[in-house]
Amino acid sequence: MYDIAIVGLGPAGATLARLLNRNFHVVVIDKKRSDGKGFHKPCGGLLALDAQKAISQFDLTLPKDVLVDPQIFAVRSIDLKTGIIRHYQRFYINLDRYKFDLWLKSLIPDNVDIFEDSECTRIEYYNGSYNLQLVCSGETKDITAKYIVGADGANSIVRRFLYPHKKIRSYIAIQQWFPEKNLNPFYSCVFDPENTDCYSWAISKDGYFIFGGAYPKNNCHMRFENQKKRLKEWGFCLEEVQKTECCLVLRPSMLNDFCTGKDNAFLIGEAAGFISPSSLEGISSAINSAYYLSEVLNANEVNPCFAYHKKTFKLRLKLYFKILKCPFMYFPPLRRFVMTTGINSINIIKNINE
Ligand SMILES: Cc1cc2nc3c(=O)[nH]c(=O)nc-3n(C[C@H](O)[C@H](O)[C@H](O)COP(=O)(O)OP(=O)(O)OC[C@H]3O[C@@H](n4cnc5c(N)ncnc54)[C@H](O)[C@@H]3O)c2cc1C
Repeated sequence: MYDIAIVGLGPAGATLARLLNRNFHVVVIDKKRSDGKGFHKPCGGLLALDAQKAISQFDLTLPKDVLVDPQIFAVRSIDLKTGIIRHYQRFYINLDRYKFDLWLKSLIPDNVDIFEDSECTRIEYYNGSYNLQLVCSGETKDITAKYIVGADGANSIVRRFLYPHKKIRSYIAIQQWFPEKNLNPFYSCVFDPENTDCYSWAISKDGYFIFGGAYPKNNCHMRFENQKKRLKEWGFCLEEVQKTECCLVLRPSMLNDFCTGKDNAFLIGEAAGFISPSSLEGISSAINSAYYLSEVLNANEVNPCFAYHKKTFKLRLKLYFKILKCPFMYFPPLRRFVMTTGINSINIIKNINE
């Protein structure tokens, strides 16, 4: 019998497990393995300013083996419909997402029980506590906990258990890795309304060039392939696929999409819908929401679900403002206006010797 069971060991689950009071008997369950085999979370692996700020508040420093080559300071935005290209300054840290997750996991204190290579397959609420069924390295196990926390990302089993009828806008994210053949590695952001009303990205990472995008579910693979064809015409080197990754990604479209939990069960990170609908940046919200929940649980609040919901007010408001910002990026006439005027863009100076 645990006090708290956390499902998911991404940035949200690992942060919560690190910050909980050591008097709690805590268990964390995650599908991933530490030996590099099995499930890897598909991700652009860009640590945005908000995520850097979230980490800095704990006075943590990032080990250099988490970083990848190169570090990029500008994003090349391409609107395939109008052919407009603009560059914008960005302050991302380019990192290896799998190693980043392992680093966050390494900070969890020893008193926390960690089940890796374990999938939570069923949840039941019985007599005031939660019963979780796990499949751990092929074996079935049951654990019981007073509180459960869904830190299990976009396809959260905890969210589906708590809110079986609630729908949230979601896309299929597909990305492929290619050998890096670009003379000048770059980061690019692609808008292509013919194939997706969300966006696509391309980034150079440690000798690879990753191209991916978030697509509506119907014909997502065809949309991805269509886009690859178009981008090859734009000079993208998308030959010799090394690996293909695919997962669900949430894109909240209204305030009501954010769900923080009920009945001693909580949602943090993307499971709660905490991800930017404009950029799909989600690491900062994962870390911040985990911190808010740790404060509530450590304070032994009488009504922890209400207290956590209240604590996340500013975060929900911030993400809601990003929903309002979306038309300027995704409504083609407005995007064309923003890109044509060049607001906030930078000029790229060509070296005459090259
Ligand atoms: C393709 C793509 C690119 C992205 N790029 C970026 C980016 O560059 N920068 C950024 O900030 N954000 C990015 N995001 C968003 C970001 O990845 C997520 O918002 C963030 O990882 C959410 O963190 P989390 O801890 O809530 O969930 P996750 O990181 O998704 O972690 C959930 C964990 O739960 C585990 N899990 C899931 N189900 C179960 C289960 N049933 N049993 C046991 N374990 C389970 C998984 O193994 C996983 O480790 C991207 C998303 C996608 C899809």
